Amino acid sequence: MLWSEQFSKICRPVSRLTGTEWADSKRFIPLGTSAEPGLWRTSRTPYLKEPMDAATDKTTEKVVLMFSSQVGKSEALLNVLGYYADQEPAPQLMLQPTVEMAEAFSKERIAPMFRDFLGLKGKLEEGKDGRGNEKKTSATILMKHYPGGYLALVGANSPAGLASRPIRILLADEVDRYPESAGKEGDPLKLAVQRTQNFNNRKIIFVSTPTIKGSSKIYNEFEGGDQREFKVQCPHCGCFIKLSWSMVKWESDDSDNLVEESVGIFCSECGSKIRGPRKLNPDILATGRWEVANPKGRYRSYHINALYSPWVNLFDLVCEWVDINRKKDRNGLMEFINLKLGEPWEQYGGDADLWEYLLKRREYYPAGGILPDGVLLLTAGVDVQHDRLECSVYGWGTGRECWGIRHIKAVVRMSCRFSGILNGQISEEAYLF
Ligand SMILES: [Zn+2]
Repeated sequence: MLWSEQFSKICRPVSRLTGTEWADSKRFIPLGTSAEPGLWRTSRTPYLKEPMDAATDKTTEKVVLMFSSQVGKSEALLNVLGYYADQEPAPQLMLQPTVEMAEAFSKERIAPMFRDFLGLKGKLEEGKDGRGNEKKTSATILMKHYPGGYLALVGANSPAGLASRPIRILLADEVDRYPESAGKEGDPLKLAVQRTQNFNNRKIIFVSTPTIKGSSKIYNEFEGGDQREFKVQCPHCGCFIKLSWSMVKWESDDSDNLVEESVGIFCSECGSKIRGPRKLNPDILATGRWEVANPKGRYRSYHINALYSPWVNLFDLVCEWVDINRKKDRNGLMEFINLKLGEPWEQYGGDADLWEYLLKRREYYPAGGILPDGVLLLTAGVDVQHDRLECSVYGWGTGRECWGIRHIKAVVRMSCRFSGILNGQISEEAYLF
């Protein structure tokens, strides 16, 4: 390359593209690496726009993504990584749980990226190892050099590769799968963060599905941040609502089989159906926006679950949930909550996990004789005890939804115990739910 070409390249101004603008204009997803090969469109997953732009802007230092699976978090990481290889070349480090996972990620995701992304094609051939050595050293599985920077991939179980290497961009993927300590070097995540200290424009990006509450690194990091939640607009009442599992409802037929068409997400404000059993309507996803739940958070943290994924059928999720609960599969339930809901698993003793999760699904409705909307039928059951009657009134709706309406305790006080005639008084104590 002529020196003048080299000079003009080095003097190229810093990009004014945002991370998503770069991805939308330069990214091509190769066949076989994603569910949707072809040109990248951020509009397919609007919830990735803000986190990707924060990860590539000039002001944000730290971004935490507590994401479920199937929402495109690996794609978002690749977009950020590609941006810093092409638009603002910098030393980058990607941390994966193990060396084997780092190698697999490099071969399966990063190699095709440098082969097929517009703007990244041929960059590895141009990049040298920073010391002016020959081109042949520029790209190994765990080290990729490009003009102006490099990408190092390290396994958190073997953090020797972290020692004394300055990095500006830290991309820590699946942080909940890292060991607490990797030998005498200590916590690999802390070690990686220390490597960024020399840069005043550093970026620290933590990504993971959570594991167990208390020991989950990503959950602790999410809690320390501003806890952003993605809310979409209900097409019926116009409220912005967070899609959660407690809003998913379904019905079973007489043989206890799921009725596919009954599956849906119902608005927590107006009760209307906002999503059916199949994939989420892109128009609803397009109305979404991130809202800060913890204004005292010191950095940006985001949470999203698979209910927002444009690739997930709601019916499949419900089938999985029902199957897990029928089998009382504790590990399956934990995986569902971690991977599909992107929430940490709360440990309780014995069989308490199921009731604890059910307890969370409660909703509030007025007491005092006003029946909640949805009650179609009332039933009363009476338990006869030797000194009292206990009567419970329940309201029933579609999908076997059930509301406790009233509980009445009738105490029988005998005034003539041996008269042979029941001559009692009944005092009534009523309990409202
Ligand atoms: Zn609504």
